[in-house]
Order: sequence, then structure tokens, then C-alpha cells
Amino acid sequence: MLPSRRTLLRITGCLAAAAAVRVLTAEDTVAPATAPRAAPPAAGPQAAVPPVRASAYRLEPMTAYTPPRYHTALPPVRTRPFLSMPQLGERSMVLTFDDGPDPRYTPGILKTLREHDVRAVFFLCGEMATDNRDLLREMRDDGHVVGNHTWTHPQLNKTPSAQIRSEIGRTSEVIEQTLGEPPQWFRAPYGAWNRNVFEIQAEMGMEPLAWTVDTLDWTTPGTPTIISRVLEGAAPGVVVLSHDAGGDRSQSVAALRSYLPELLKQGYELKVPPRRR
Ligand SMILES: [Zn+2]
Repeated sequence: MLPSRRTLLRITGCLAAAAAVRVLTAEDTVAPATAPRAAPPAAGPQAAVPPVRASAYRLEPMTAYTPPRYHTALPPVRTRPFLSMPQLGERSMVLTFDDGPDPRYTPGILKTLREHDVRAVFFLCGEMATDNRDLLREMRDDGHVVGNHTWTHPQLNKTPSAQIRSEIGRTSEVIEQTLGEPPQWFRAPYGAWNRNVFEIQAEMGMEPLAWTVDTLDWTTPGTPTIISRVLEGAAPGVVVLSHDAGGDRSQSVAALRSYLPELLKQGYELKVPPRRR
């Protein structure tokens, strides 16, 4: 019996899809050659399509987290994090909020940002993210950038490699499962990067972002002090560090309500880094 028209169409469609996947996979193995690294990237989700370079693929160690198949290129292994982002524009600044999300404080921050139509970067801890996935979706829907800040906030320069991999990999997994895209930015807790951390985060497709102005809001210095630290530190390209979790962050929430409209009044544009494709 001849196959029906519908079956033929289905077969044609499958062949086309398989061809498309093969092209993307081939590009994927070529692209990272521009990155200064010895090894090719860890294999992507591999079940359906055999890898192009099977031998190299087999030599790759298994990792807790496998990077996405459709990235264009992995970032290079950095030797220090970005401290500022002047490339975002002459009057640009970046607001970042770490350690969350926390349902007690993050919604207040999101509300203020929304009222002023401003985007920020949230560096999430996996253990907080996994229980507050609605807040992740809210961040995504409002156009904020969601970054990786490890699972439990350890000091990574005192943490064994396998554990670093797990801390970062599990967090990226939760973010990707929830938002459909893995994070592209990583911030080491306490700013404690070392070579190992730079290598692992690059392998997982992330760039390192530190900060220019530390509000030290976690010491609960009082709302006016947090406000004045931001306004005194304000300058083009400055990245501001605050926290929306990890303790009582009501001062951080209140301070934002005050310094954000002031920064806008001074002509600053609050921006986030664009997504790499
Ligand atoms: Zn932190």
C-alpha cells in the first residue's frame, strides 16, 4: 500500500527538521573555535542527533548542566569580571539585585521598577528561585535580566570544583526550566572569583558581572544611607549592587522608591545588558 499524502508530508517534515537540527549542531561545534579555550563545549542535549565530532564529544566530561545547543558561541574565559558597563550608553546605569527572589521583598522592588518602566538585573540563588518561580516569570515578563548567583551562596574560591559546577549548574537549570532560556550572566557570591570559576561559568555560557557601587544594604545602614550611596556613586556605566533577599531588605526596597526617580530626574537611563544570541 502506498503511503498517504499526509504520511508523506509528515516524513518530509521530519527530514527537514532533522536537516535543520544537523546544520545547527554543526555550526555549534564550529562557533566556539573563536573562543580561547582548548576543549570544545560540553555536548548539548544529545539524545536525538549524533554529534558531528564523535570522538571529541566522548572525551567531554559529564557535567551537572549541559549548555544549550543553539547558542552561537560560548563566551571567552575571562580573567576578571566586568565592573561597569559604559558600552550601554552615555547616561546609562545598571541596577542589580542579588540573592533572591524573596517573596517578602522582591515584589516591592519589581513594583517600583514597573512604575518607572525600568529594567534591572536579578542575580538569583537557585535555592530561592526553585521555590519562587512565579517571581522569575514576573521578572522575565517585565523585561528584567535574570542571572546566576549559585545555589546556596558559598564562597567559591574555597569550594571544590565539583561543587562549584553543581552550585552554578543547578541554578542555571532552574532558570532555564522556568524561563525557557539559560542565564547569560553570572555573579560570584562575595565577588570571590578565581580561575576555576571563570572557566566553569564560561563553559556554561555566562559572562561575569561584578559591580561599581556597593550600597552595603545588607548591613541595614538605614534607608537614607542606601539612597545617598547610590546617588553619590551615580555616573555613566556604573553598576549598582543591592539585595532583595538574604535578610531584612525593607530598607533596600524603600531606598529604591526614592533613588530611582531621582536618577531618572538626573537624566540617567537604567539599562540591562542585551541578550547574546
Ligand atoms: Zn550575594
